[in-house]
Amino acid sequence: MTRPLSERTQNIAASLTVAIDTLAKQMIAEGKDVVSLGAGEPDFATPKPICEAACKAIHEGKTRYTPPVGILEVRKAVSEKLARENGLHYKPEQIIMTSGAKHAVFNSLAALVNPGDEVIVPAPYWVTYPELVKWLGGKPVFVQGKRENDFKITAEQLKAACNERTKAILLNNPCNPTGSVYSKQELAALARVIVAEDIYCISDEVYEYFVYDTEFTSAAAFEGMEERTIVINGFSKSHCMTGWRIGYNAAPAPIAKIIGKIQGQATHHPSNIAQYAALGALSMGMESVNAMRAAFKKRRDYMLERASKILKTPANAPQGAFYLFAPVSDFYGTKTPSGKTIGGSVELCQYLLESEGLAIVPGAAFGDDSCVRFSYAASDEMLQKACDRFKRGLKNLV
Ligand code: GLU
Repeated sequence: MTRPLSERTQNIAASLTVAIDTLAKQMIAEGKDVVSLGAGEPDFATPKPICEAACKAIHEGKTRYTPPVGILEVRKAVSEKLARENGLHYKPEQIIMTSGAKHAVFNSLAALVNPGDEVIVPAPYWVTYPELVKWLGGKPVFVQGKRENDFKITAEQLKAACNERTKAILLNNPCNPTGSVYSKQELAALARVIVAEDIYCISDEVYEYFVYDTEFTSAAAFEGMEERTIVINGFSKSHCMTGWRIGYNAAPAPIAKIIGKIQGQATHHPSNIAQYAALGALSMGMESVNAMRAAFKKRRDYMLERASKILKTPANAPQGAFYLFAPVSDFYGTKTPSGKTIGGSVELCQYLLESEGLAIVPGAAFGDDSCVRFSYAASDEMLQKACDRFKRGLKNLV
């Protein structure tokens, strides 16, 4: 064939988190000794009440099409959750169930972005954000969160980045990959700029339950924000449902309508069974989430402890999510035992995978080549092995 394929698609990069996870799982399936702290995927099983809700749905024949936006029961439950836990007022008709939170990010951008529109992406950022903005013809505008400010952007930085082409800001709080969490005051200051500049806010809150030394506040909870904020959340992380692919958008009414239209044409709706599973998750109480938070906090402390002895520059203590963003640029310019130079985070991660069987993600994927990302949503044994391998791998560099 000589006719060209979609240029827009050729201009975006593949997801490195997904690529590394796929490669590590393949290597493990081939019998290789690989410790994977690549993808952010909780190691716990999906809680029983959720599986039972899904089985019940199957047995009751809930296996047919649902409305594009999802079944009313689960949208009601999401609306109630947002009111109860976050003080938000999105009605059930403003909730759209999606095939995971990633799909909800796509829906949000697809509803907002015109060719040439700018979308502000605080950096470091989750690998998928800029690629989806580009895919839709928009321009990601990166605003660098400084390490001294725990990788968070300030209201002044946001204001300076806004212009007449700015359509939205894509916030991720708590943040993947840095684990930083915006305080209420910091969010209030950002919200004032967002309202004054009259831009939209896409707020990815998928790690909301995983905050350790602080509290979570939704970006939509400030004056003037709900009518311009699309909240994104999902069940993959909070309820160990990565493979179920179920999340949601909560959006201002006109945007919710558009997202419903997009979904009606693109996917029809997320799996009916996964929607009932999500309803099970929303009805089961917080016991398992609280237990996971406690486990992740311990693991975070362990990773920080180990990292402080291995690294030359201390890592920022993540206040949320389940990632450690570790500074490794002190090791750049060194050579591997086979004579290859470590030029940056990609080479370092490649070397650690090949020589130590340790899968982690280069910071370059998140817009910061000076770091590598560890997901500590893994068992204590795996974390210990990973740290041992990391230490040995770095020690062998000359
Ligand atoms: N969100 C997780 C991560 O960052 C899963 C993989 C992905 O979708 O990027 O590792």
